Amino acid sequence: MKKIGLLGGNGRMGKWVQQLLESEYSKKAELAIAPRSGESLAGLFECDAIIDFSSPLAALQFKREAMKRQMEFTPPIAVGSTGWGLGEEEELEELTGKTLLFVASNFSTGVYALAEILRQNAPLLKTLGYTPVILEGHHHHKKDAPSGTAITLQKIISPEAHQSVQTHPIRAGEIIGDHQVHFYGVADELQIGHRAQDRSIFARGAIDVALWLADLKAKDPSRTGRLTMADYFKTALGL
Ligand code: NAD
Repeated sequence: MKKIGLLGGNGRMGKWVQQLLESEYSKKAELAIAPRSGESLAGLFECDAIIDFSSPLAALQFKREAMKRQMEFTPPIAVGSTGWGLGEEEELEELTGKTLLFVASNFSTGVYALAEILRQNAPLLKTLGYTPVILEGHHHHKKDAPSGTAITLQKIISPEAHQSVQTHPIRAGEIIGDHQVHFYGVADELQIGHRAQDRSIFARGAIDVALWLADLKAKDPSRTGRLTMADYFKTALGL
């Protein structure tokens, strides 16, 4: 039974993670601790893996606490928070000296597939003269815009100048997560996208990744570095 620590346990995503740990994953994993804002993070260092669905600040607080501790290696962490400010992801990266750090703006299988389709086909569409435009929609509570997923897609479509990819965020109602990529030609348009139907896809993805990280760490406690969704799908699922 793997012990999972959770940052953001009280939020929309955190509640889904807890619900799935208590149901689908109850034979494999259990929630060990979910410190709220301002509470001690000490219990997280006893876990097999940590999931973060809170805020960049909380993930950075964990990193700072990890660097202070007299532990050579700390538990691996799957970070799902988005809305990173200037230099913040670089600071988080320091964790790679102490553990396995996994950062994903989107833990869903569908967005991984969308990203791979774009990775393979965006260069062709660019050569053919199509202009990419991303339309993304989320609930009105969401703090960051454009979404972390939209930024990831921008970087795939245009690695050399991602900010040049027109991106239009909608923040309205209770939209869970909608990313549509349009490629406009002179007199035609191609479209591919992903629409989340509920938040379980993100929570399930994060738990699967956390269990994978915990296994990697159990096999080699000194393993450190950064891993991505591509590493997970290629290594864990053999894709
Ligand atoms: P939310 O606002 O409902 O929940 C965030 C929770 O984190 C809140 O309960 C808040 O109190 C807590 N929190 C904030 N700062 C904290 C701190 N310093 N210490 C401990 N807890 C803290 O938000 P949400 O919809 O659950 O989303 C959380 C994050 O996950 C956002 O950044 C969102 O964009 C991201 N997200 C990522 C994915 C993905 O697949 N990677 C999917 C959905 C949401």
